[in-house]
Amino acid sequence: MHKTYQHSSASAADHTLNNILNIIVEGVWDWNSKTRIVSRSPSWYHMLGYDFAVFRNDVFTWENIIHPEDYPRVMHQFEGYISGKIDAYDIEYRCKKSDDSYLWIADRGTIVARNADGSVDRMIGAHHDIDQKIIAQTNLVEKNKLLQDSHLSLEKVIAQKTDELAKKNQQLERKIIEVESVSNIDPLTEIANRKLFETVLNKEIIRADRYHHPLTLVMFDLDKFKEINDQYGHKVGDNILCTITKLVAENIRDVDLFARWGGDEFVIIFPELCQKQAHQTSEKLREMISQHQITRYISVTCSFGVAQYNSGGSIDSLFQRVDKQLYISKERGRNQVYSEVI
Ligand code: GH3
Ligand code: MG
Repeated sequence: MHKTYQHSSASAADHTLNNILNIIVEGVWDWNSKTRIVSRSPSWYHMLGYDFAVFRNDVFTWENIIHPEDYPRVMHQFEGYISGKIDAYDIEYRCKKSDDSYLWIADRGTIVARNADGSVDRMIGAHHDIDQKIIAQTNLVEKNKLLQDSHLSLEKVIAQKTDELAKKNQQLERKIIEVESVSNIDPLTEIANRKLFETVLNKEIIRADRYHHPLTLVMFDLDKFKEINDQYGHKVGDNILCTITKLVAENIRDVDLFARWGGDEFVIIFPELCQKQAHQTSEKLREMISQHQITRYISVTCSFGVAQYNSGGSIDSLFQRVDKQLYISKERGRNQVYSEVI
């Protein structure tokens, strides 16, 4: 042990020690088990707000001021230490002050002498005021908890709202797709209907004008379809419409838009194709349809009209022109492609 003092007499040592005890702000205690006396420094009384030496110099003074909630814990530590089960006596607890409030202290002690039987002869220690530290710690813990709680609840609310919103968006998207497909698709043939066709044609015309690219419109109609319906029934007629649709759809490009105009009349937008090219494609389609055996007894033919969009022209005039070509095609005997004479 480091030696600060080297007193030549016991009274000189006592004098130094007592002065130190008076100076130390926190309380020092000294327990002699034989005499059962616990000496406490003036600062010990001062720390707790009591007048010096108002209590008896025994262990009960100490025990009486320990907070009842802390008492079992303190005793457990103390007994553990003096019986040798615990290595150090070092504990924090509350002590009652003169105004009946409690002060948090750190109590550290050490056995300085043992009896022959191993029991404690003398133990000294010090009480250190840690009230401000504990208050600050408690406040911090409470504030952190509050902060965490509010953060957590906020996160929970946000997560819940985000979830609800995502679900609503999903429902909305499904609804939009549903509505859009219902309103844009022909239910029988499952290709684009007139509405979608008009929307796409508008876009393609703008594109053709912007880039000065050709754009050709084709319209075709089943020949004498009424007679087929009359002969084989409406259901067979429906199947024929579907078969022809499938055949045509499989033999045009992805960029072409194929739509059912109504009844047995269909339209195809051929972006980037001039009238001549669209005429050739139509001819190919016409031949394919006419060669196709729908059933062993049934085959159909179609008449085609072809007209190229004139840059800056209107959709209405394009329609009138293509309709006229189809009419001529029918007039000329059906099962043929007729293009506007340029
Ligand atoms: P044309 O060669 O002059 O075109 O003669 P057409 O008999 O085909 O005459 P038109 O095109 O004017 O008649 C269309 C017929 O198509 C009328 C109707 O019986 C039939 N049709 C229209 N829509 C449907 C449908 O959805 N299903 C069936 N099965 N028949 C339809
Ligand atoms: Mg017809």
